[in-house]
Amino acid sequence: MPRRPKPSAPLTAVVANSAGEIFELEGFAAAGMAGTDRAVLTQADALKIPHGSELMFLPDRSPVLYNLDAQRFETLSENPYAPGEPLFPVAAFNSPGYVITRVSAYEEDPGAGFLPLFSYGAAGWDGQGFRTAVVRVDPEPRQDLRRMPRNKVIAGVERMRKALPDNRLRGHLEKCALEYGCPAAKNFFLGRYEAPLPTAQRCNAACLGCLSLQTGGDIPHSQDRIAFTPTPEEIAGIALTHIRRVDRAVVSFGQGCEGDPLLAADAIEPGIRLIREETEAGTINMNTNGGRPEILARLLDAGLDSVRISLNSIRKSPYEAYFRPKGYTFDQVIESIDAALSRGKWVSLNYLNCPGFTDSPEEADALEAFLRQRPVSMIQWRNLNFDPLRYWNIMGRVSPLGPPAGMKRLIGRIRRSFPGLRHGYFNPPKERFAESP
Ligand code: SF4
Repeated sequence: MPRRPKPSAPLTAVVANSAGEIFELEGFAAAGMAGTDRAVLTQADALKIPHGSELMFLPDRSPVLYNLDAQRFETLSENPYAPGEPLFPVAAFNSPGYVITRVSAYEEDPGAGFLPLFSYGAAGWDGQGFRTAVVRVDPEPRQDLRRMPRNKVIAGVERMRKALPDNRLRGHLEKCALEYGCPAAKNFFLGRYEAPLPTAQRCNAACLGCLSLQTGGDIPHSQDRIAFTPTPEEIAGIALTHIRRVDRAVVSFGQGCEGDPLLAADAIEPGIRLIREETEAGTINMNTNGGRPEILARLLDAGLDSVRISLNSIRKSPYEAYFRPKGYTFDQVIESIDAALSRGKWVSLNYLNCPGFTDSPEEADALEAFLRQRPVSMIQWRNLNFDPLRYWNIMGRVSPLGPPAGMKRLIGRIRRSFPGLRHGYFNPPKERFAESP
């Protein structure tokens, strides 16, 4: 039985060649970065790579590794053991529920373009397997791919075609589940946990990392936006089908394949009423940018049980630099949080985090001050799917940042300061609202 490496043991660097083959590079330790801060990745900094995570190589970039002999960080564009063979950095796109604590360390080559919309966690090799720099915030297997076999999804699609033949939203979710591989859509067809209710074709923000609409041409978007507005009956049809067959079901407006649901309230409000006329079971949730507090208030009064508000920062200028709001203000987002809190609703922050920015002293202090004033129910730590180097540059231009404290330390600080605050990744069912964190 091979001896377990010491916690302080550095992980071996992993890199890729131009064919995309990933291999460890002896003599070099893996390195991670957070803003301008670089660190050697040790056994203790990383977990066994979570199931369902993917390793990617980063084009037009050179890995920054730690030379164990020379005891220094080096940027390698060529394989030192095969001169002339280009080397590329490797990063991990970790499964849901794992927060990255360090980004894969690399430098851009001249002329490099934007990276696609993923998060780029640091990774290394411990002699037996890959490890990634993450902390786990949510153990729920809601999006565990091992529980979503394709043949069962397909069987579910066929069942729903019979049950909801004329429901266009069912048709849209089929494409999401089978073509985009959306775990939320798969869960609808599998009858598990949370079902998606995409409704909005438009959005009043223009997030740098929007998954459903990218206009600049530099970055491909991940999925197309829904091309129609479902009727209240179509919305209720999907929701009630899910609620009737899933214990502690959650149904959620505000998905990656749509704009912002507050802009589709004319269909959503009667949809919610149709659901609540039929049953009090199930949790009706909305993921939103919160830009229209007056509309959100209407939907909360109509029967919305919980709301998740997306934020990359609790500070106005970094927020505006990322969300690029069109026709709403940062203050209105805060008003939306207040509207939900004042009604005693479950409020989650969809906290888009990126090491080097989120764990900067400026951001950490702002988050703590905000939570003191507004006791939200939950913070969902979500890795920001956006080019990290470009993100630090953009955020650094709107607000200079101090040295990062580390994501683990930040989460620990928030846990200690707010023991009643739930941490996680997934929207909980209302049956679990009263549980202690
Ligand atoms: S709020 Fe959502 S839909 Fe709107 S731009 Fe941002 S990511 Fe895209």
